[in-house]
Amino acid sequence: MSNVAVIGGGAAGLMAAYAAAKNGNSVVVFEKNEKCGKKIYITGKGRCNVTHDCLPGEFLENVVRNPKFMTGAIYAFSPSDCVDFFTESGLPLKLERGGRYFPVSDKASDVTKCLENKCKNSGVTFKFNEKVTELQVLNSTLSGITTEKGAYSFDKAIVCTGGVSYPSTGSTGDGYTFAESVGHEIVDVKPALCGLNLAGDFYGRLQGLTLKNVALDVRINDKSVKRFFGEMLFTHFGVSGPIILSASSIINRAEPKSVKLSVDLKPALSAEKLDMRLLRDFADNKNKDLGNCLKNLLPAAIIPVISERCKIPLGKKVNAVTHAERVKLVEILKNFILNVVSLRGFDEAVVTSGGVDIKQINPKTMESKIVKGLYFCGEVLDLDAFTGGFNLQIAFSTGFCAGNSIKD
Ligand SMILES: Cc1cc2nc3c(=O)[nH]c(=O)nc-3n(C[C@H](O)[C@H](O)[C@H](O)COP(=O)(O)OP(=O)(O)OC[C@H]3O[C@@H](n4cnc5c(N)ncnc54)[C@H](O)[C@@H]3O)c2cc1C
Repeated sequence: MSNVAVIGGGAAGLMAAYAAAKNGNSVVVFEKNEKCGKKIYITGKGRCNVTHDCLPGEFLENVVRNPKFMTGAIYAFSPSDCVDFFTESGLPLKLERGGRYFPVSDKASDVTKCLENKCKNSGVTFKFNEKVTELQVLNSTLSGITTEKGAYSFDKAIVCTGGVSYPSTGSTGDGYTFAESVGHEIVDVKPALCGLNLAGDFYGRLQGLTLKNVALDVRINDKSVKRFFGEMLFTHFGVSGPIILSASSIINRAEPKSVKLSVDLKPALSAEKLDMRLLRDFADNKNKDLGNCLKNLLPAAIIPVISERCKIPLGKKVNAVTHAERVKLVEILKNFILNVVSLRGFDEAVVTSGGVDIKQINPKTMESKIVKGLYFCGEVLDLDAFTGGFNLQIAFSTGFCAGNSIKD
C-alpha cells in the first residue's frame, strides 16, 4: 500500500484519487479552494459535457496536441468506460446532438458530487483550503509535499493542478512550477478553444450575428491546414462560436500574420451553382437593388459588408450588375476572409494548450521519467482537444491511468 497525495481536486484529481484508493492505497486530496470541482461547475454552460459518444480512434482524431501519447490512456479508460462509470455510480447520462454526453440532471455539480462520493466511499480524505507549494524529492524519488500549512511525507504524488485558463477556478499553473522544480520541461502555454480578435472594424457592425452551416478553411502561410463546418458568431472583438474555438486550437502557435480564415458562406453550393442561383435571383428580381435581392440568400446584417468587399453599391439595380461584378460576388461569398490579430486571453480560453512535456512522462502510467513516484494528469500536461467532451475525457483517462497504476 502506498501513501498517495493528489494535488488538485478537479476532474483529473478526483478520478486519480478514486482509482488509487480502490487499489487499497491511502489517498489524500489537497485542494486549494474551499471545495472540489470549481471548473467542472462551469463546464458545458453548467451542464457538463462529460464525454463523447465515440470509439478511441475517433477520440484521438479530436485531440489537438499529442494524440499518440493518449493512445494507451484512452484504451485503458475509454469514453464508453466513462459512461459506464458514471451510470453505475448513480449518475445517469444522456446523449445529445453531436455525440455529447450530459448528466440527465443537467447539473455539472452532480458530476463533482458523484466523483467525490466515489472517493469518500473508497476511503479518500480531503484537505480543502490547503495549497500545495512544493514537492519534496530525495534521490530522484518523491518523498513528500509541502503546503501552506505544513510538510507531509508521501510515497507518491499525483499532480492534477490543471492549466492556466479560467484562473478564477483555481487553475493558475502551479503544476508547471512543481514540474520545473524537479527538472521537467514545460512546453509554452497558449490559450486554446477561445475567440479571435480580428483586424479591421467591420465585425463591430455584425456583432451578435450567428452564421450557421458555414465552412471555415484555416490557412497558415497560405496553406489550408484544417476545415471546419458549423456555426460561428461575430462579437465586439471579432469572432467566436464553435468552429472559431476549434480553429483557435489549430492556429495558437502560428504567427497571427500568417493566419487567414476563409469562410464559405454557402458551402452547399459550388461556385458555379452559386452563380446560377444568383442569376436566377437577379432574373426574378430585375428591378430590385442588390441589397434587397441578396436578402434571399444572406442574413441582412452581413449584406452591406459583402457589398463593400465586392465593391458593388447596395443600391445598384441587379439588372445592371456586370458579369465581372457577379464573379467577384461569388468569390467573396465562397471566400470571406477574416484576418486574425490575436487570440483572446486565458481568462476566456476553455483550455490551455502546452504544459508539462509528455516526452518525460510514461504514457501508460502518467509517471514522471525523472522522479519516481511523481505523476501528472489532466490539463497540466501538454494535451488538449476540441470541444465535445474530449477534454474532460483526457482528464478522466489520464487520472484513471495514474491512480490505477499505483498498486503494490
Ligand atoms: C468554461 C469552460 C467550459 C468547459 N466545458 C467543458 C465541457 O463541457 N466538456 C469538456 O470535456 N471540457 C470542458 N472544459 C475543459 C475542462 O473543464 C478541463 O479540461 C478539465 O476540467 C481539466 O481538468 P483538470 O482536473 O486537469 O484541471 P482543473 O479542472 O483545472 O482542476 C485543477 C484543480 O487543482 C487545484 N489546484 C491548482 N493548484 C493547486 C495547488 N497548488 N494546491 C492545491 N490545489 C491546486 C485547482 O483549484 C483545481 O481545483 C471546459 C472548460 C471551461 C473553462
